[in-house]
Amino acid sequence: MRVAVLKERRADEARVAATPETAKKLIALGCTVAVESGAGLPAGFPDSEYAAAGAQVSPDAASALAGAGIVLKVRAPLAAGEGEVDELSLMPRGALLFGTLGADREAAGRLAAAGVDAAAMEMLPRITRAQSMDVLSSQANLAGYRAVVEGAAAFDRAFPMLMTAAGTIPAANVLVMGAGVAGLQAIATARRLGGRVSATDVRPAAKEEIKSLGASFVGYEDEESRAAQTAGGYAKPMSAEFLAKQAEVVAGAIGKMDIVVCTALVQGRRAPILVTEAMVASMKPGSVIVDIASDAGGNCALTKPGEKVVTANGVTVLGWRNWPARIPAAASSLYARNLLTFLTTFWDKESSRPVLPAEDDLVRGVMLTRGGQVVHASLAAG
Ligand code: NAD
Repeated sequence: MRVAVLKERRADEARVAATPETAKKLIALGCTVAVESGAGLPAGFPDSEYAAAGAQVSPDAASALAGAGIVLKVRAPLAAGEGEVDELSLMPRGALLFGTLGADREAAGRLAAAGVDAAAMEMLPRITRAQSMDVLSSQANLAGYRAVVEGAAAFDRAFPMLMTAAGTIPAANVLVMGAGVAGLQAIATARRLGGRVSATDVRPAAKEEIKSLGASFVGYEDEESRAAQTAGGYAKPMSAEFLAKQAEVVAGAIGKMDIVVCTALVQGRRAPILVTEAMVASMKPGSVIVDIASDAGGNCALTKPGEKVVTANGVTVLGWRNWPARIPAAASSLYARNLLTFLTTFWDKESSRPVLPAEDDLVRGVMLTRGGQVVHASLAAG
């Protein structure tokens, strides 16, 4: 089985879907691994390391893909008109494609028409069995860490309280909005750096998790928030009344904050606005808002996705896109291991290929297309 690893060509992407470590493990499974030259470079993995791991280095996407049965990607392959290489048309029919594909019905239709069996790893069910393959968690964790580190770098003062002979510098006050995977890592990182950390969320379970990390909870609770968690563990969209009450509590606290890390998301929707323009106006000059919800529009009303904004009152808003790609070596390592774990879970030693039973929860969760058809329930129905 030949496995192709392509260079990522989309904007703001620096990750790679296989590292020399996972390439070596795929080869140990009996695969041939072909890596497009330069694929790992933005993440700090030169061609020579893949070659040392036993992979072939192919000069371009076409030669890496020729004869491939499995294609590993971070983001969706480029289709005709999307960039300098039409990656999709180069994929052999019947190839099994892995990536975070973010496909709507139209994109899924294109994958089906290309005869590619596409696995959208971001759609993996968040169940215990899937934890070690959960790309959303591995990437969100690193994004939460990176957000605090970049916030600290953009902040002109110190995170920990520093008691020096010349006087004392107070600890930074940090507020984390949304305490899911990214937010909890942001809390832990800000605590490690010595910040005084508080956090808000709407799910009742999050309140306990915030406290267990030694942060204080800032938020509003009522009947609605007690039922704010879906069966899948996600937050429900909250009513305008609830959001107004929550905003009152946040507005009371935010003026004292030095760093605000925004991570709140609601599945399939624009990210909720939790930091209004008036709240930003109440913040001190030099404070920093780091918005890692920016790919979904952002939690701060002043976030410009992809940009750094400095407001008239001297507050910096970092709205970079694709935060996991800002820590590309670590993010690639975890992402590549997530894919490898999925493959090895379904690896059939006899036939030396993955066997993906349609009735398996994980397979049903990720497979968008099979045998030229769109098969995912969320895309095929209605
Ligand atoms: P997410 O990225 O969808 O959202 C981030 C956070 O934003 C969530 O905690 C959410 O409650 C919060 N949020 C939404 N609206 C908000 C608002 N108005 N104000 C404040 N916060 C708001 O979530 P996620 O990080 O992917 O994880 C969500 C849940 O899934 C968590 O409970 C997590 O522990 C769970 N999870 C479970 C597993 C597993 O293996 N069982 C794996 C991964 C995640």
